[in-house]
Amino acid sequence: MNRAAWLRTAAIVTCLAGWSAAPAPARAAANPFQAASTLPFQAPRFDLIHDGDYQPAFLLGMKAQRAEIQAIARNPAAPTFDNTIAAMERSGRVLDRVSETFAGVYQANTNPTLDKVQAAVAPLLAQHQDAIYLDPRLFARVQSLYAARATLKLDGEQAQLLEVYHQQFVHAGAQLSDADKVTLRHLNTRLSTLETLFQQKLLTATKAGALVVSDKAALAGLDPAAIDAAASAAQGRGLTGKWVLPLQNTTQQPALQTLENRDTRKALFTNSWLRAERGDAGDTRATIAELAQLRAQKAALLGYPDYASYVLYDQMARTPDAVQHFIAQLVPATLAEQKREVADIQSAIRKDGKDFQPEPWDWQLYAEQVRKARYDLDQDQVKPYFELDTVLRDGVFFAANQLYGISFKERKDIPVYNPDVRVFEVSDKDGSPLALVYFDYFKRDNKNGGAWMSNFVGQSHLLGTKPVVYNVANFTKPAAGQPALISFEDVTTMFHEFGHALHGMFADQTYPTLSGTAVARDFVEFPSQFNEHWALDPIVFAHYAKHYQTGAPMPQALVDKIKKAARFNQGYALGEIITAAKLDMDWHTIKPAAPQQDVDRFEAASMDRMGLDTKDVPTRYRSSYFLHIWANGYAAGYYAYLWTEMLDDAAFAWFRAHGGLTRENGQKFRDMILSRGHTQDYGPMFRAFYGKDPDITPMLRHRGLIPGDE
Ligand SMILES: [Zn+2]
Repeated sequence: MNRAAWLRTAAIVTCLAGWSAAPAPARAAANPFQAASTLPFQAPRFDLIHDGDYQPAFLLGMKAQRAEIQAIARNPAAPTFDNTIAAMERSGRVLDRVSETFAGVYQANTNPTLDKVQAAVAPLLAQHQDAIYLDPRLFARVQSLYAARATLKLDGEQAQLLEVYHQQFVHAGAQLSDADKVTLRHLNTRLSTLETLFQQKLLTATKAGALVVSDKAALAGLDPAAIDAAASAAQGRGLTGKWVLPLQNTTQQPALQTLENRDTRKALFTNSWLRAERGDAGDTRATIAELAQLRAQKAALLGYPDYASYVLYDQMARTPDAVQHFIAQLVPATLAEQKREVADIQSAIRKDGKDFQPEPWDWQLYAEQVRKARYDLDQDQVKPYFELDTVLRDGVFFAANQLYGISFKERKDIPVYNPDVRVFEVSDKDGSPLALVYFDYFKRDNKNGGAWMSNFVGQSHLLGTKPVVYNVANFTKPAAGQPALISFEDVTTMFHEFGHALHGMFADQTYPTLSGTAVARDFVEFPSQFNEHWALDPIVFAHYAKHYQTGAPMPQALVDKIKKAARFNQGYALGEIITAAKLDMDWHTIKPAAPQQDVDRFEAASMDRMGLDTKDVPTRYRSSYFLHIWANGYAAGYYAYLWTEMLDDAAFAWFRAHGGLTRENGQKFRDMILSRGHTQDYGPMFRAFYGKDPDITPMLRHRGLIPGDE
């Protein structure tokens, strides 16, 4: 089964209508997804795949898996682990191949044909998953194995797999009575309608919330390029002769860093803050109130006290209490830092010859002045030391070689979906083939923003597959023949995504559902964020940060600036995320019997209980525009960004305490974390490596909120 799709849609039961599958064209017989690729590592046949192959392959793949699953469900033989659980793991090979390849290309190199395939196929895949989870005969087999699990003589990975299957079936509603299943379907339909409605309203609100400026003088401080962009944004809206500052999804807006006119700043901030609370078509509050209430009801139907408990059942944190406790622990040091920062902001305002108290719309401007005075880091000075290819080979690969003994060789013979993509074969410490890794680093118009990692082929001993993984980013592409000089942020992104890649490449599982990066949201960013630390390790840094023309090492003063700048404004940066994480947990611990909430009052009460300076440091997202939690699958999950930070800083502190960059340390981390997938629960897995539960001290040190080296 496709691990990613399996996990992603486990809890979703969507009702579908409207799209009927087009018949597969005649070329389906030669569809390149039908058989396993004969390339090394079963790499995707980008030399043979045409855009027109994807949709037929999806249809073919779903049909084939439906038949396989039905055969399992109808099998007259008594259920065994092999004829039920392992059989499900073996099913869906064509669908896996096309899903994994398509997902990679669709996100990194799409076109109108692929967009249509995505729109057509997404609801069918959801329906396909539902048909599996809500098949009572299939669940009966899983259930009977689960009941007999103590007598089945399963090994550790098999026992975990049975547990995961059982949980996922139950979580999707397989255990409900027929009447409750109907209720669940209705709830899910309404929830998905409300999520879409929220998204549409927010889009409307964000567009309408853009600040329109009639007097150019009000934009003083913005650089000429930003003013030009504001003028053309106005033109695009038929407001020729004016200037428009569109809103970003966060509370704070980039222009607030430079706008000198205080009234303009206040107006822009207010537009952002109130964007979805105007009592018009873009007002999301009624939608949110209903979403929160129905999510609580859905949780109750499935036997949980609240929606957060329903979501957290398979996460490392496990319970809302654990998350709330974690958040509360971060508050004192963050508040102390916020107080220091407010004082800095106040003195910067005085230095500017003003005497007002700082308001949220003043923070970015004056924080930028404080930053410049203390740590100014000139990108033009820094970038010549970060040439992409050198960073990759002498930084990212070097660190992995020192820690894990693995080595890399470029393969020009493996077909790619775009000429910018590069492929490397990875050899294990003993020289045996380990994985293929693709790098697609440069920005393109048809690529999603941001950076990510995934698999073209997942690792599984059962299926005989080795990992084929990829890293995608959006770095600026240099002119032909010029070196790609990147920022330190980009360098960090390379290490981050490669940390995910290592998690995928070191996977050593029998069963695909438990393999590699198929782990909980509050665990999956742990290996990637952990790998970021090596970018600044003195040995690694000195090995890659060399001037691209002279080969000279970066001057120490510049290195120190990079390190110090990373610790700037952390009371603000951490505070706005903690507040948003707490708001998310509060919304999703509403009890099922509670009435619909008044959104403003609910939010104000949540802020009051924070114990942070939420006036000067407002939440990164207000309830009314918190897209992550209302429509993007992060409900009761926003804390995960902070949780994984606790894990990676703790693990790195362990490395430092044990000699840092050594093969011995790397091997231990590989053996106990990177190669384990989800074969164990995350708490015990982490404890086994770290020797105790994770604690927040290394995280607070790393952020510079408490003294000491991280
Ligand atoms: Zn990541």
